[in-house]
Amino acid sequence: MEKNYYVCTGCGLLCDDIEVESEKNIINKVYTACRVGVAHMKNAKGETNFLVDNKPVDEATAVREAASILKNAKNPLIFGLGTSTDETQKLAIELAKKTNATLDDTSSFCLGPLVEALLQDKLKTCTLEDVRNKADVIIFWGADPSDSHPRHLSKHSYFPRGSEKQKGWEEERTAIAIDVRKSHTAKICGNYFFQIPPGGDTEFIDALIAALSGKLPKTSYKYPPKKILELANILKGAKFGVIFAGLGLIYSLEDLEPVFRLMKVLNEKANFHLVPMVGHYNMRGFNENLFAETGYVNRVKFEDGIVKHGPEYSVVESLKAKTVDAALIIGSDPLSSLPRSVSKNLLEIPVISIDPCETLTSKHAKIYINTAVSGVEAGGSATRMDGTKVSFKPVVETVHPSDEAILKKIMEAV
Ligand code: SF4
Repeated sequence: MEKNYYVCTGCGLLCDDIEVESEKNIINKVYTACRVGVAHMKNAKGETNFLVDNKPVDEATAVREAASILKNAKNPLIFGLGTSTDETQKLAIELAKKTNATLDDTSSFCLGPLVEALLQDKLKTCTLEDVRNKADVIIFWGADPSDSHPRHLSKHSYFPRGSEKQKGWEEERTAIAIDVRKSHTAKICGNYFFQIPPGGDTEFIDALIAALSGKLPKTSYKYPPKKILELANILKGAKFGVIFAGLGLIYSLEDLEPVFRLMKVLNEKANFHLVPMVGHYNMRGFNENLFAETGYVNRVKFEDGIVKHGPEYSVVESLKAKTVDAALIIGSDPLSSLPRSVSKNLLEIPVISIDPCETLTSKHAKIYINTAVSGVEAGGSATRMDGTKVSFKPVVETVHPSDEAILKKIMEAV
């Protein structure tokens, strides 16, 4: 039986220490990974599937039909790519240019603004290795990695010994949770859990900034000033602090201005970094690849060599306004994840779904191409939640084509 180390693409942590036992191209045992990772790594599948109008066809027919839809569309939408490799994402950007498409990903309604601010050097950040080796104050803000990124606390942020943190979590680290509910992560943080009401983040930030500046903190929801002053004192003493910012924080803010203000004050008093809690294993890669090409992280429209950018090119606004007349969805399920009032417009246009999993979107798609699971059945490279580049090889061979191979063929046929 073969034993090898692999990267898990189950979430934005891209754990690179996964031990796998496989025999005859079947994964028997997965060690080191969390429960999410084990399920993900064992996600090997059977027959490959190419469907047009829900009828089985061969690969060439599916590719030809997909290319024809894109060629005939005036403004196709290309969306998804958070669970695709860098290589696939770069091809999708080229395809969007060639077809004058609108191009967007899930970051346009989640952590995109934070990643953009990091790429523009507007916020101080660090790697997960820095956190493991140096961090003494760790804040989980609107994030519950115990559920979303199960090895976050054990591998990087709280429990491990680090080169400069040999005494570990018991003596040298303080973990703090700021959230609207007592999550599993908040329970680990014990007395350092600060429960705020939904939408209360901006006021809490203002109160915290007041406390950091020696003023009396006040909120309309009457958060005990003493607790905020205690929190401010801990933060002021941080030698290496980090805020892991999650969706709970981002969804509560109108824009990032309060975060910029807080990080400025924190860095006047101490040493603080921010890392976005990216969920999909390569959402950050999509942002970085598109940023390198266009200067924007999402919401773009290519038009005869020109790049347009704005909220009107987001997946949500494009579908709402019905400005797109076809859609190529790669590794995403907008029919399940977007509000029905928005996603129902996908049912009125031809959809091509390229996905390792059957989804609601793939079931309603005119064309469905069932591809390999990247990281398990296909290799490539990706960008971890902290911006670190990671390369990986497939664990098993598969009959499924990678999404990269399919996009290459569609590109040639367009
Ligand atoms: S924490 Fe994420 S990357 Fe690590 S093993 Fe679990 S699912 Fe995979």
